[in-house]
This record gives sequence, structure tokens and C-alpha cells, in this order.
Amino acid sequence: MPTTPTDAIKLTATQQIAAIQSGDLDARELFETYRQRAAADAHNAFTWVADEAPAELPASGTPLAGLPLAVKDLFCTEGIPSQSGSKLLEGYLPPYTATSVQKLVDAGSTVHGKTNQDEFAMGSSNENSAYGPVTNPWDAARVPGGSSGGSAAAVAAGHAAWALGTDTGGSIRQPAAFCGLVGLKPTYGSVSRFGMIAFASSLDQAGPITRSVADAALMLKFMEGKDPRDMTSIGLREPVEVPTRTDLTGLRIGVPEELAGEGVEDGVRASFEAALEQAKALGATVTTIHLPNAPHALSAYYVLAPAEASSNLSRFDGVRYGNRLEAEDGSLIGMYTRTRTEGFGPEVKRRIMLGTYALSAGFYDAYYGRAQQVRTKIVEDFATAFASVDVIATPTAPSVAFELGSKTNDPLAMYLNDFCTIPMSLAGIPAISIPSGLSDGLPVGLQLAGPAFSENLILGAAHALEQAIGFDTAGAIR
Ligand code: GLN
Repeated sequence: MPTTPTDAIKLTATQQIAAIQSGDLDARELFETYRQRAAADAHNAFTWVADEAPAELPASGTPLAGLPLAVKDLFCTEGIPSQSGSKLLEGYLPPYTATSVQKLVDAGSTVHGKTNQDEFAMGSSNENSAYGPVTNPWDAARVPGGSSGGSAAAVAAGHAAWALGTDTGGSIRQPAAFCGLVGLKPTYGSVSRFGMIAFASSLDQAGPITRSVADAALMLKFMEGKDPRDMTSIGLREPVEVPTRTDLTGLRIGVPEELAGEGVEDGVRASFEAALEQAKALGATVTTIHLPNAPHALSAYYVLAPAEASSNLSRFDGVRYGNRLEAEDGSLIGMYTRTRTEGFGPEVKRRIMLGTYALSAGFYDAYYGRAQQVRTKIVEDFATAFASVDVIATPTAPSVAFELGSKTNDPLAMYLNDFCTIPMSLAGIPAISIPSGLSDGLPVGLQLAGPAFSENLILGAAHALEQAIGFDTAGAIR
């Protein structure tokens, strides 16, 4: 049965590719449908949308069949604005494309839009963007999560078949959870960071935001790999398998008491517990475990990530990249000051100050050094845990999507969103968020984490649970 592009919007990326390859769906018409939907997007999810389909769309002959791809603003895309949500980089046109984007393009996916994000990926609600907040397709009074909020809103609204996000402390997983989608943060080093505008280099990792676990696996399969242009990239150890697992026989799931107890909203807890029951029904065993240092992860992260950011963001000086604002007195120092004062938003300035302070002589050992020690302890906690369980399950975020403006004046409340996702980031291990159900009509995310390079394991487990839960990821498509 030939599929019309409008019906096809509700199919997953994997299903769309199959329909294109079998000749039931026209790749160019599908691209045009998504492009027009993106151009008319009312969630402010996009910072740039293509004017037209490319003259030659790589279609049925390629593995990714020309499928439209939405790319977070912070990925450099040659000749296409790449601004990382910042006014300082407004209109910046990079001379090259990030490796992860290029690899997907080489496999046939085609960029149709760049997506809104918190400035330099600092945030959990997308309210820190210089290009305005993004709204959640499930409820436009609420945030989509962040910092990859535009990518998540675009996919949830059916304005992109799939999207690229980045995750430093939760920025793929938490927006995926808030928007009823699948979000995967791969093992640190498995995907090249070349061409990603850096936030915290020891934590940043690119990954998929998709409508199904199979879609996430497919995107990862083409993105991962060692890249000579990123010295920290190593690639995965085994090829990504598109998951087919439907049972969890023998899988040992650990639930860390420190991350699944206090502070988790009732509706989220109920959905999490129901998912664990489903896992048991599929054959898994579920036990309580401990990650004794995980409660300190947030504090360590808010020393380490700003420290790295203060260093990374020093390159934005008005000389080499982005916008330059001359000082009235014509001085160089004045130009630096004005460019950075007017170019950076308040959250970015807060992080630069925190990070500069933590790295300053006399405070370095007390803050940065100590935070590094906590990071090591967290790595050890996970190693101990994975000696007795295969995967670790937690709620992805302690709440469902919150109302716009409700946390903007309270940075600590905002930071607490990443309580359950930051420990995995500090340890560099892979973690996926899948929808576990609805709480008062809003999606809840379930996080599954595994040891480094266990992507096939967590994708398989997530796929089995996804099939059992039967969540409708097209539920917000209008
Ligand atoms: N919300 C966290 C922060 O503001 C994580 C952001 C991210 O993963 N990029 O730093």
C-alpha cells in the first residue's frame, strides 16, 4: 500500500526508510512535508529551516533514504547558521560540518533544520536560548526540557523524522523524557565531538533523539566511530545491532536507592515502578543497589562543567568567531568586554564566573581537584554496581515537564532536574531514556544505563520494554 507523506509522519524513522526503500513512499515528498511542517512550527523549535529540498536527494539507494534530520544548533554545519543558542554567534556560518552530522549525511539522511537549544547547552528547559524559549508539543504551557529542547520538540511534534542532540549532564535524556521520546547518550568517546561547539569537553557527547529505540540504534550505527580529528574518540567496540529483543530473561536490573527515592514526584515514581513490574514480567530480576557517591554528582558537575566551560568559552572574544562589538574608546580590551558582556546571556555568565573561580590559584585544589576526586568515586561506584547487575534503572528526571517560567529564577531547582542523569555523564557510561507512560497526561522517562560500550545491551533491554509498554510516541503529533 503506497503511503501518503501525511500518514507517514506518524511512522517511525525505521518504518519510513523501509517504506521509501520498498517504493511505497516518495522520499522527496516526505522531505518536503517535513520541511513545510518545520517552517510552520509553532513551538519555536527551529533556528533555521531549509528553503527547499536539495536538488539531488539521496533516496532509496542509501541506508538512510534521504530522511530529514533536525540538528541541534551547536553542531557546525557548513554554510548553515550554527549559533549554539547564543547571540554572540548569531548568523555564524561555519566553513565545515561536524563529523557526526557528516556521517549521517553520508549515509543519506538530509539536514532540513537546525534546532533551538539553551545557550551553549547550559540549561534544562530551553529557556536560556537567545532565540527564545521552546514549548512542549504535549502542552504548550510547559518546557520541552533542555538543553536539546528544540530537537525533542521538533520530533515530538512531527516536524522532524529524528534529531541530533548533545548531552553533557542530561541534555538528550531529559528533553526526550519530557517530550515522550527515546534519547540515547552513548559512551563517552564513541561518537566524534569534532565540530560540536564545546561546553564541557570531558562530558559532551552527541546522540539521537527519536520516536523509537530501533531508530536510536540506527542513527547511532551510522554516527559512531573513531575520528582522527577528535583525539578523545574511540568508537564502539562492536557494531550497533538494530534491537529485536522482546524478553528480558536473565537480565539483572539494579535500582540505586540514592537516585530513585527522595525528590521524585509521585506520578513519576508510579510510572517507574510500573515499568519495573513490566521488566519482571519479561523475565528480569530487579534488586536495590547503592551508588553511595551519586548524591554528590550534581555538586561535582557544577564545578567541573563550568570549569571546562570557562576555558572553552574564552575563544569567543570577538576576534575569531561570531559577532564583534567595538568599544566606544576603540580599545581592544573594551572590544572584548563589550562583545562578551552583550553576547553572553546570564546563565552563561554565571557558569563562566563559577568555573573561573573554581580554577583560580588558591581555590583549584579545594574545588576543581576535589570535584575530580568525587568523579573518580562515582566511576568506582558504577564499577562495583556492574559487578552484580547488568543494567541500572532510574527515573530520567524527578518530574514531568514543568511550566514555562516556573524555575527560571531558581538556578538550583533547575539544576536538580539532572540529579538522575549527571552520574552517568561523569562516569562516561551509556544511558537511554524511553517513555514509561503518562502522569496527568504528560510523558515520564525511564533511564537505563549500562557499563561503557554496552550500547547493544541497553538498546536491546530498552526495546523489549518499549514493546511491552506500548507508549504512543506520535501522541503529540497534530
Ligand atoms: N542541565 C545541565 C546543565 O545545565 C546539563 C546540560 C547538558 O547536558 N548540556 O548543565
